[in-house]
Amino acid sequence: MSENQPSLETVTDYDLLIDGDHQASATDERIAVSFPYTGEEWATVPRGDHRDVDRAVEAARRAYENGWKETLPSTRRDILTGIADVLDEHYEELGRLETLQNGKLLREMEGQLESLGEWYRYNASLCDTLEGAVIPVENKDGGMFNYTQREPYGVVGAITPWNSPLLLLSLKLAPALAAGNAFVHKPSEHTPVSALRFGELVYEETDLPEGVYNVVTGDGEAGKAVTDHDGVDKLTFTGSTAVGRQIGKKAGERLIPASLELGGKSPNVVFPDANLENAVTGAIKGIFAATGQTCVAGSRVLVAEEIYDEFVDRFVSRAADIELGDPLDPETEMGPIAFPDQWEKVNEYVDIGTSEGATLAYGGEEPGDTAGDLFVQPTILTDVENDMRVAQEEIFGPVASVIAFADEDEAIRLANDTEYGLAAGVWTEDMRRAHRVADRIEAGTVCVNEYRLMSYRSPIGGYKDSGLGREQGKAGLEEYLQTKSVWMDL
Ligand code: NAD
Repeated sequence: MSENQPSLETVTDYDLLIDGDHQASATDERIAVSFPYTGEEWATVPRGDHRDVDRAVEAARRAYENGWKETLPSTRRDILTGIADVLDEHYEELGRLETLQNGKLLREMEGQLESLGEWYRYNASLCDTLEGAVIPVENKDGGMFNYTQREPYGVVGAITPWNSPLLLLSLKLAPALAAGNAFVHKPSEHTPVSALRFGELVYEETDLPEGVYNVVTGDGEAGKAVTDHDGVDKLTFTGSTAVGRQIGKKAGERLIPASLELGGKSPNVVFPDANLENAVTGAIKGIFAATGQTCVAGSRVLVAEEIYDEFVDRFVSRAADIELGDPLDPETEMGPIAFPDQWEKVNEYVDIGTSEGATLAYGGEEPGDTAGDLFVQPTILTDVENDMRVAQEEIFGPVASVIAFADEDEAIRLANDTEYGLAAGVWTEDMRRAHRVADRIEAGTVCVNEYRLMSYRSPIGGYKDSGLGREQGKAGLEEYLQTKSVWMDL
């Protein structure tokens, strides 16, 4: 693969990555990968099936049993640091792959990967902290000795989406390896190439033992083969709530743990005392960054009645200034939607919104001056009621629903009136109010006077239907560890 660096002039055919090596799939079926901006096909990957997943799980199991589970924490620390170095060295190449797969801005993808090494360095540092405890215990005859030790689960099966492929993989891979697990990854069928190339670089440039990280490309059927596999000891999934529910059921049947990072319909709440310019900037970033294709998209903008009209005027005028175009061009501010089905879904929701009685304040038309077929204008729906479908269902595109509220209690009621609970923004200059509202909002992340913040040190995850478990921070590592309690009669 490495001699075939991707270019839009040729179509590169990739193999699976199993046992540290490129392996052909058991199937002849291929998935075409196209650049969303032009529709040009530039790569194919295998549409892997359960036979490929079998081989990957066996390779992971072998690697785990033949030494990985006994590696010293310092060895894992050094390997994770090596993976961080791979990202530092290759973030430009990998960032370009990400853009060619999902059409997001090159500067955003490169920026994401330039800092992604920190996720591995942080988890490397946690390898040195995997401590148990000595617990004072006794029985009727007297003293006993009891201690706990932290252990990996074994083979982790990971399934990821297309919107930030290597970032979302790394939120899982870094802590899973730090804890001492082996890993089988099924990336999204829309963005399979960056994981294959990343894995290849990791094996070339670090001492990761063969078989510890495996990549099987394919669609939902390959994903199911991972969740159904008896050799997988722990599942971790990022994607839609609908698929997350199925994976949760499967984990329940098999009685294995599943971490689920799912969808959202996050509120950005603008109070009358907010710095309006900053709030508008935050709302623009919240819903139009990454063409609205982020799990934490601030897709419901809740605005106090007394500033509603002024906010909408400013919001519309800033949206109208957003430069749409080629995501490889550094001047572009918003790229296309990632693939045709998603484009259709987003457009359908604009129609649903207007037919429900919302006002199309901006967007919703085909942008005339862009080359690709997959563009949607930044779109603002006003006069939205919170029970409309555009306020309740995840659109995963650049469509903001603006909803008025009368007072703080109503703002909180509306913010929480959703099945989701992933993120929220609060805009106010009153810090007492900021704390009150942050406390009462049912969401895994609340940002005050900013939006879309994350750090490898700070946990993220969903309340309600937005998921189970946490990623990042120490809580993220805990997801990949189980605890053994050892007793001794003295
Ligand atoms: P998706 O659920 O359609 O697919 C995600 C992955 O699951 C893909 O790899 C797919 O092949 C696989 N899959 C599909 N059906 C499966 C099945 N039955 N069993 C096992 N695997 C299966 O999601 P998507 O369209 O790729 O991603 C967008 C969704 O992801 C949005 O809902 C978004 O909010 C969510 N997301 C959540 C977070 C978070 O951290 N909470 C982050 C990013 C994206």
